[in-house]
Amino acid sequence: MITPLLPTYARIDLAFERGEGARVYTADGTEFLDFSAGIAVNSLGHAHPHLVAALTEQAGKIWHTSNAVRIPQQERLAARLAAATFADTMFITNSGTEAIECAIKMARRYHWAKGNPERYRLITFEGAFHGRTLAAIAAGGQEKYLEGFGPAVEGFDQVPFGDLDAVKAAITPETAGILIEPVQGEGGLRALPAKSLRALRELCDEKGILLILDEIQCGVGRTGYLFAHQASGITPDIMAIAKGIGGGFPIGACLATEEAASGMVAGTHGSTFGGNPLACAVGNAVLDVVLGEGFLQHVRDIALRLRQGLAGLQDAHPGSIEEIRGEGLMLGIKCKVPNKDVLAAMRERKMLAVAAGDNVVRLLPPLIIDEKDVADALERLDGAFSAVEAEAQGDAA
Ligand SMILES: *Cc1c(COP(=O)(O)O)cnc(C)c1O
Repeated sequence: MITPLLPTYARIDLAFERGEGARVYTADGTEFLDFSAGIAVNSLGHAHPHLVAALTEQAGKIWHTSNAVRIPQQERLAARLAAATFADTMFITNSGTEAIECAIKMARRYHWAKGNPERYRLITFEGAFHGRTLAAIAAGGQEKYLEGFGPAVEGFDQVPFGDLDAVKAAITPETAGILIEPVQGEGGLRALPAKSLRALRELCDEKGILLILDEIQCGVGRTGYLFAHQASGITPDIMAIAKGIGGGFPIGACLATEEAASGMVAGTHGSTFGGNPLACAVGNAVLDVVLGEGFLQHVRDIALRLRQGLAGLQDAHPGSIEEIRGEGLMLGIKCKVPNKDVLAAMRERKMLAVAAGDNVVRLLPPLIIDEKDVADALERLDGAFSAVEAEAQGDAA
């Protein structure tokens, strides 16, 4: 018999009652070290005092008004994000997939408004994940998400990740732009080298097409930069963000240059909930912390510590770890043993992480972790890999 909740998730039989920093607790008080952060969402950990204060203060004033009127919290969030990035303007959403949807519509509309309606196609990359709307699953191009949902939304041409020659070959007079994650999340923590991102930027300029970045997972401080592309020195024309900007409250945004956004005039797009006062109060509170003095440096420093520790872990477990990859606090352990077994062994040691494609264990800790959390994580990971190895030996014997 079907459960009252649509069974689209293969859920782990665990529930958490409360959290604090990088730790979460079940109802019986069992503590877990949370290196999943709700899939890169709890960027400042759980129950961050500044976020709790911002949310409760706003909750006592006004939650929601609709976008028929001005929303000062939304205007402030947009102004601050614009000041900190390439963007001149942005549309606030409730989720990542809505930010991507807006980005796709904006790119198509840009060329349409320029008198080139035939330019509506986007080049995307193998292993990509852009969300779950019909357009987003078509952009992601993964058969497992497209199967059975009718004809895929037209207009996406997929090439191997970061393959510049393939991108060049795929550009036609119908190409509107290139959509890419600077660091692939679901796809297995593959980071696009800075020089490839720069090459894509040049190619877009040369061909008069738009560079669209999906920084929904890798943005908002996760790589040690406010946005991952900032490490390469280039800027996109359009960028989708979500996850970390809400610290746990559902909010996303589609950022753009004035030029790229030029087709999106009044009436072309909208959202009932998107950017309501409650969501934007929290988004602003996240920015207070992430833009605070020394915060991104902390992320870079602690990420280096974790990465060095993971290199040591790989040395200690050469039979089960193939590679450490990713950027900042968005790291992947590419396994030689099934990643699901490692994640289960980690849970036995009271540590949470996330699976990713290509048999990768994905570590997405809150950005506020300290050296003690890193040491704790490395110890539990070491125990988990040893247990999986011992089990494999037992099976072989
Ligand atoms: C999570 C994610 C999305 C989808 O965001 P939702 O909030 O789940 O709709 C899109 N792109 C990337 C890179 C993501 O990590």
